[in-house]
Amino acid sequence: MSDAPATFARPIPRPDAISQGFWDATARGELAIQRCPDCGNYQHPPRPICHACGCAAPVYARVSGEARLVSWTTTYHNVLPGFAAALPYACMVVELVEQKELFMLSDLIGRAEIASGLRFGMKMRVVFPAGDGEGPVLPQFAPAEEQQA
Ligand SMILES: [Zn+2]
Repeated sequence: MSDAPATFARPIPRPDAISQGFWDATARGELAIQRCPDCGNYQHPPRPICHACGCAAPVYARVSGEARLVSWTTTYHNVLPGFAAALPYACMVVELVEQKELFMLSDLIGRAEIASGLRFGMKMRVVFPAGDGEGPVLPQFAPAEEQQA
């Protein structure tokens, strides 16, 4: 047994047959959400059927990436493996502009506005941070005003 300390990586998403279209889009720097071809309902996270009408063939449709912030919590201490380098970070719930109650979870890592700058309802926009090449590209949301500066 080695005396070297164990190192742990942050968990990475594992695409499956249902979510593959979402991850294919993020790899292109696009945000795509399942949309029902019968009733037009968007849904996230991905599911095998439309939860509004039961259609068994939801497809992925590109969305604007614009959202508003509806809830968040800021983490300053996390003992779970792989998160130390990310501290502090905000775990956020955003509502995509395409549909009421179309929510996504996101994190906002190492940003000065975490402690005091986040506001309910503020405009957010998707970003696709450069990853480390491990696993799929994870979309995140950041304040839209900051991106225009
Ligand atoms: Zn439907």
